[in-house]
Amino acid sequence: MSAGNGVRVSVLGLGAMGSALAAALVEAGHTTAVWNRSPGRAGDLVGLGATAVDTAAEAVAAGDVVIACLFDAASVHEVLDPVVDLLAGRTLVNVTTTSPEQSREIAAWAAGHGVTYLDGGIMAVPSMIGGPGSSILYSGSATAFERCRPLLDLWGESVYFGEDAGLASLYDLALLAGMYIMFAGFLHGAAMVAGAGVTAGEFAQRSAAWLTAMTGGFAGLAAVVDGGDYTVEGQQSLEFSDLRNIIDASAAQGISTEAIDMVQNLIRRQIDAGHGKEGFARIFESIKHPR
Ligand code: NAP
Repeated sequence: MSAGNGVRVSVLGLGAMGSALAAALVEAGHTTAVWNRSPGRAGDLVGLGATAVDTAAEAVAAGDVVIACLFDAASVHEVLDPVVDLLAGRTLVNVTTTSPEQSREIAAWAAGHGVTYLDGGIMAVPSMIGGPGSSILYSGSATAFERCRPLLDLWGESVYFGEDAGLASLYDLALLAGMYIMFAGFLHGAAMVAGAGVTAGEFAQRSAAWLTAMTGGFAGLAAVVDGGDYTVEGQQSLEFSDLRNIIDASAAQGISTEAIDMVQNLIRRQIDAGHGKEGFARIFESIKHPR
């Protein structure tokens, strides 16, 4: 069965994200049953044409494809363990954020009960679902991914990483790691200029343009890391990248240097090990090999 128009879908969890996913399904004409632990969250979806059910069991029974968008791995088990017999033979697409290990554990649990399992990591906020820039990462059953593709594509770009159910989560969390460190870097810069009377809003505009331009450097860093030779000509050296002046300027403003110290420590470890003339990409080795 392909999950084209006419497939029966259930969505468990009508928080901000679950509601956005369900709305996209209903608006595309899918027969959609929705359930939430706390009552009163299905009103808008029912208005669009969804059917609200009172129990997770009713929701599972109503769907060929069951979407779980709950809080964490524990809540997935809390909701689905009691109804696993009903889930058998159906496809479970779990887009609840979980760690790679938790995704693999849920996949093994699903396999042990005859449930076809696809794990998802959502790279979007609810307002982006179905619009440009939304992408959702998947891993687990290739058959489920292909079969559910018409549904999944309603939410954004669907990207599949392979049968290992933990891969989507690993990618998801790796991308978020980059995002949080970038946000911390932006806010550090905003704190530096705040003492000079610059608002965070003014700084944000300049910072966004600068950081966007700097993402052009990812490919070059990646080529060095993948090539495994940090001595390749033309790179900015670790010694040149010493962040002492940024740390001193931050301290002079009376602000914390923790965010920038983190990067400086990664650089220093490589310089102290005798690699100062090699490229900045070498901090990858500081990260890969913890002290
Ligand atoms: P939310 O608005 O806080 O909603 C959480 C949902 O989980 C609610 O439906 C809640 O039900 C349900 N829930 C929590 N614990 C439960 C339990 N023990 N048993 C049954 N239901 C339980 O969160 P959300 O934004 O929709 O996020 C849902 C998932 O999507 C999370 O894993 C989140 O990390 C992921 N995600 C969200 C975003 C985002 O921008 N929002 C982006 C990417 C990924 P009640 O109403 O009964 O509390």
